[in-house]
Amino acid sequence: MLIKAPKGTYDVLPQDSSAWQAVERVMRENAALAGYREIRTPVFEHTELFARGVGDTTDVVQKEMYTFLDKGRRSITLKPEGTAGVVRAMLEAGLHQGALPVKVYYLNTPVFRYEAPQAGRMREHHQFGVEVFGAALPTVDAEVIALAARVIRSLGVDDFVVNINSIGCPVCRPTYHTRLRGYLEERKDGLCETCRERLSRNPMRALDCKVESCQTLLAGAPVPLDDLCGECGAHFDGLKNALDVLGIEYRVNPRIVRGLDYYTRTVFELIAQTDQGRHAVCGGGRYDGLVGQLGGPNMPGIGFGMGIERLLMLLEHSGNTPPSAQTPDVYIAPLSERDRMEAFAIAEQLRGEGIKSDCDHVGRSLKAQFRYADKAGARLLIIIGGDEAARGEARVRDLAAHEEAVIPLASIAHEARERLGNLRVRGAATSRSGASGAEPPSK
Ligand SMILES: [Zn+2]
Ligand SMILES: [Zn+2]
Repeated sequence: MLIKAPKGTYDVLPQDSSAWQAVERVMRENAALAGYREIRTPVFEHTELFARGVGDTTDVVQKEMYTFLDKGRRSITLKPEGTAGVVRAMLEAGLHQGALPVKVYYLNTPVFRYEAPQAGRMREHHQFGVEVFGAALPTVDAEVIALAARVIRSLGVDDFVVNINSIGCPVCRPTYHTRLRGYLEERKDGLCETCRERLSRNPMRALDCKVESCQTLLAGAPVPLDDLCGECGAHFDGLKNALDVLGIEYRVNPRIVRGLDYYTRTVFELIAQTDQGRHAVCGGGRYDGLVGQLGGPNMPGIGFGMGIERLLMLLEHSGNTPPSAQTPDVYIAPLSERDRMEAFAIAEQLRGEGIKSDCDHVGRSLKAQFRYADKAGARLLIIIGGDEAARGEARVRDLAAHEEAVIPLASIAHEARERLGNLRVRGAATSRSGASGAEPPSK
């Protein structure tokens, strides 16, 4: 019997991985342009890190974590989000004691949530994210938002909205909590059990409760913006001003609170609009208390996470799937069995010279190799053997133009490169009018 992948997981297959690579390249390049350096942290951490970091009143910690005891009876949790592990790593390595701010990104980090799998949100999914530590000015909030917007735009998606909100700080949030709690107490009977339990400790969690009756009931609830203290208000104004200066359009959405406890002040989401509906492709915010909460010094922080699966789904819906870059450029076909080893050696030689080449390893006839090379998307087919080989030459066929020529074997790499170069110029001229736009920026 075949063993299937566990529920909520999936495989990135060879025909899909070039889209991943293209997206990753755009993320890497844009992060580097803004001075962010890569960090990689483990897939699992001590459970306490997330209980303390993410907040034990959140849905994530209460219901969705992959937690288990290892053989040493330690409670271990598979990363449910990207930030807490990065903070742990920074503190452990003392990065925060160097020059500030610390600006890092993580790419393709697997994130695990035990929840009902939904489109673009699997039990194991992958995130691109950035974190900045040690910078409190609102310009850095705008920088992080601009970076997220630039990544999405670089991939050819222009139809998205930046939603921003401020959820206050430890100074002003108690005032808001009191007011919200009053509102919720009056409607307690209509709340779901989870919201009723959270009422005393963290009433704001109710704002992002997924239960429909709770959402209806909360339509008229007070919002954090109403109770911002002077400093939080000034910070929010500073962010809006910076976004205006950068020409980034945004909408103040007073109902975004995000699902994690550590956020303070700025929270934001990038929502893309396609024919298939709206997709949240990126979410983030400021977490000025998190580093302190995890045992470090009092230090501001801000970041975002971008779901890579969601982004790829969005690219597909908007017709921006990055082009596949995995086809061979040259296929080397032996004319007969006697020429097989020579053909293989030439394919290896071309690879050594940086030309993407392939050849036959299954014993196909020449005709079948033609068909195979064409289907695989090769641009040139080079036939080794016969009279040409005896004269130190080979026949080369342009598979798109159906033209043939004879080239000297001694300069086969040069000849192949020359012809591929010409093909590329022609290809570029014809595809510029296409709807791609997904071609990542060249270095
Ligand atoms: Zn405040
Ligand atoms: Zn609820």
